[in-house]
Amino acid sequence: MRIFSGIQPTGRKHLGNYIGAITQYVAGQDRGDAIYCIVDLHAITVAFDPADLRERTYDTAAILLAAGIDPARAILFRQSDVLEHSELAWLLGSVTAYGDLTRMTQFKDKSAGQRELVSAGLFFYPVLMAADVLAYRTDEVPVGDDQRQHVELTREIARSFNSRFGDVFVVPEHRIPEVGARIMDLQSPDSKMSTTSASEEGTVYVLDEPAQIERKFKRAVTDSGVGVRRAPDKPGITNLIDIFAAVRGTTPEAIEAEFHSSRYGEFKQAVAAAVVEYLTPTQERFTELRADERALEDVLRTGAERARAIAGGTLAEVRAAMGVGAPPAARRGIGTRR
Ligand code: ATP
Ligand code: MG
Repeated sequence: MRIFSGIQPTGRKHLGNYIGAITQYVAGQDRGDAIYCIVDLHAITVAFDPADLRERTYDTAAILLAAGIDPARAILFRQSDVLEHSELAWLLGSVTAYGDLTRMTQFKDKSAGQRELVSAGLFFYPVLMAADVLAYRTDEVPVGDDQRQHVELTREIARSFNSRFGDVFVVPEHRIPEVGARIMDLQSPDSKMSTTSASEEGTVYVLDEPAQIERKFKRAVTDSGVGVRRAPDKPGITNLIDIFAAVRGTTPEAIEAEFHSSRYGEFKQAVAAAVVEYLTPTQERFTELRADERALEDVLRTGAERARAIAGGTLAEVRAAMGVGAPPAARRGIGTRR
């Protein structure tokens, strides 16, 4: 079974990314043939700084390795190092309905929050994501709940391509965790914890110091009622229960049973302590790994070579099926395709 997922290179990956996605990536290594990609081409769809982008890519690589991604078992690479992703995105654009893209909630959310340029790249983002996934004939895509709609569109694009040009793509399934698929912002528990559009105080970063983590949980917004239990009108406390359950590896029901008579203040302290304990080993390994950029670049380069070997094969079939470019036999020596 092939597993693929991508993560944006913002060094400030947060607890939502960690619980919703990164822990699933690590587990995926035992379940199949795992491929993980640091998606710098997605990160440039919103405001960014070029020098920063490269640094944040190393940060993200180091976080993934620190969390337990093992380059001997999984392929880890930088998206832009494998040119096939961008070419495939363009080709898939021709079988993607414009109307479908206009329905994507991520575009609506991110463009609404954009003070400067709303880029065409932000609109086309889901097509590039479909290319990422489909290039590897992926069976399963581990993601947080916010990416459900994009994976659904990826499936639609694969089906539409296959019915028009022949069976080239595997139609992938998403894999969304049962607990922690949607960690909410601690300050505004109606919106997801996010890398680009969250409040600083409401976002717990993987690399936050223990004191920062404790402070953020202490100030987390809750309702004025009592009772540590989940309810639609208690989004703040519900979120804290979900976080606690995810980091403890238990169910929200078990947390409710244990803390039902606790005061909110006590409960918040207990969640903070559990999160600190959960993140500490990763933070320690991160510091060591991040210090050696050469070693990180080696991992990414080796990963890109392995990824290109797979994606290149898919691309050749896609081009042939679509009648794009010189026929395979005449292609030898044309261009600089790697
Ligand atoms: P942005 O908000 O700018 O899109 P992000 O925080 O979503 O950034 P990504 O790199 O886009 O970060 O997402 C990486 C993975 O983390 C995706 O699989 C996504 O579904 C998951 N994820 C993101 N936010 C959360 C969250 N709040 N709870 C659970 N999973 C999340
Ligand atoms: Mg995202």
